[in-house]
Amino acid sequence: MSSRTISTEAVPSSVLHASLSIEPPKIVRAEGHYLYTFTGTAIYDASDGAAVSCIGHNHPRVRRAMSQQLDAVEYCFAPHFTTPVYEKLAKFLVDSTNGQLPKVFVTGSGSETVEATIKMARQYCVEKGEPERKRFIARERSYHGNTMGALDVSGHKARRAIYEPLLSGSTSHVSPCYPYRDLRAGESTPAYVERLAQELEDEFQRLGPRTVCGVVFETMAGLTLGAVAPVPGYLARMKEVCERHGALFILDEVFAGMGRMGTLHAWEQEGVVPDLQTVAKGLGGGYMPIGALMVGEKVVYVLDRGSKAFMHFQTYHGHPVACAAAYEVQQVIRDEGLVENCRKMGEYLGERLRARLGAHPNVGDIRGRGLAWAIELVKDRQTKEPFPVKQKVAPTIHAAGLQKFEIALLPGGGVVDGANGDLIVLAPAYDINHEEVDLVVQRASKAIEYVLGPAT
Ligand code: PLP
Repeated sequence: MSSRTISTEAVPSSVLHASLSIEPPKIVRAEGHYLYTFTGTAIYDASDGAAVSCIGHNHPRVRRAMSQQLDAVEYCFAPHFTTPVYEKLAKFLVDSTNGQLPKVFVTGSGSETVEATIKMARQYCVEKGEPERKRFIARERSYHGNTMGALDVSGHKARRAIYEPLLSGSTSHVSPCYPYRDLRAGESTPAYVERLAQELEDEFQRLGPRTVCGVVFETMAGLTLGAVAPVPGYLARMKEVCERHGALFILDEVFAGMGRMGTLHAWEQEGVVPDLQTVAKGLGGGYMPIGALMVGEKVVYVLDRGSKAFMHFQTYHGHPVACAAAYEVQQVIRDEGLVENCRKMGEYLGERLRARLGAHPNVGDIRGRGLAWAIELVKDRQTKEPFPVKQKVAPTIHAAGLQKFEIALLPGGGVVDGANGDLIVLAPAYDINHEEVDLVVQRASKAIEYVLGPAT
C-alpha cells in the first residue's frame, strides 16, 4: 500500500458535491480496475462505482468505437432520425431475449429508463381500453431511481421522505424477497414464496385488481437491500399473480442485468420473461450514460394496433455515441467470455468472503450471486439488530476503505432506512481474476475490521 493519503479536505469547489463541506477524492486517471487520485494513489474499484464499470476503465476497443462514432455521427434527434448504431444495439438486445422483447428504447440513465417504462405501461393500459389502470405495486426498500417518477415507485423511505408530498402516491409497496430477515423459523422456501404471493394478491384485492397497471420489481434487490437474489420460484409466482389480474410484470434490471448476475439477463435464471424490462449500468459500462427499456410482445402488439407510437421521447434518447459505446462493451463481454467469468469468479468471491468474514460477530449475512455481493453488518448477530443509523457504520467503512486501504466500496442499507443492517456492496468488474478477488476480500475485510474490530 502506498503511504500517500487521499485528500478529502474542504477545498473551495464550484461543484455541488454530496457534501457541501468536503470534496471527495479527485480522480485524474482510470485504468483497468483502478482509479488514480491526483496525489497518485491507486484505488481498487471494487464496486465498479455503483455496479457500472463492468469491463474496467479505458478499454481500447470501446475508446475506438466511440471515436469512430464521433467521426460518423455524434448526434441526431432520435424522434426524427435513426442511426445504424442505434439499430445495431437495439437488435443486439432484442436477439439476447430470443425476440421475446422485440422493441428497445434507449435512454440516458437508469432513472430515465424507469420513467419511460412507467409511461409505456400506462400508455399500454390506455390503448388497451383500460384507462382505469393507473396504480403500480412495487416493493418496500427498493430503489428504482431518483427522478420523481422513478422515486414514486421506489420503496426506499429515506430517499422518498422529503419529496413525499410531491410524489403521485400511485404506487403501493409489498414486502421484498429478503430471506435473511423475513424467512420465518421452520418456513420452507415454497411456503415463503406462497406467503409473498398471497401478500401481492391481497394488495391487488385491496386496490381493486383492475386499477393496477403494473408490478415493478428489481430482479435482484441490488444497492439498497444488498444483492438479494430471488429465491427459486419467486419470480414465476409473482408473474402469475400479475397475469391473473391483467397487470404488466415489469423487471428493473438496471443493477442486475447485462451479465452481472451470471446470465446476460437476470430473469433467464428463473425463465421468467418480463413484459417490460429496464437495463442500464452494465449496458454501457460507464463509458457513456445509457439505459434501455425493452418492450415485450404483448405491449408492442397493443401499440401496433393502437396509436402505432410511443408518446415519450427525450432530446438525447438513442444517442449515437452512447449506443456505440454500449454496443462495443457488449461485444467485449461476449468475446472475452465475461458472463461466464461473472459466474465463476462470483462463486470464488462468495467463498473467500465467507471464509474471511463469516465468523465476524457483526457480520449478519454474506449473500450474492454472480459478481454482486453484499455483507450485511449488524450490531447483534443473534438478534440481527441493526446498528443505529446515527452510527453511520457503512459510510465509515467506506471512508476507511478509501483513506487507509485503497479500495472503493459501496455503502448502503441501514444507513438510509434503519430497517435493515448496514451494507457493504461489492460489484467488481466482470473480468476480475483470482488474485484480484483475494485483494478485494483482504482490503474490504481490513476496512470492516478497522471500524468494527477483528473477528474474535
Ligand atoms: N433501478 C435500479 C435497480 C438501480 O439500482 C438504479 C441505480 O442504482 C436505478 C434504477 C437508477 O439508475 P440511475 O442512477 O442510472 O438513474
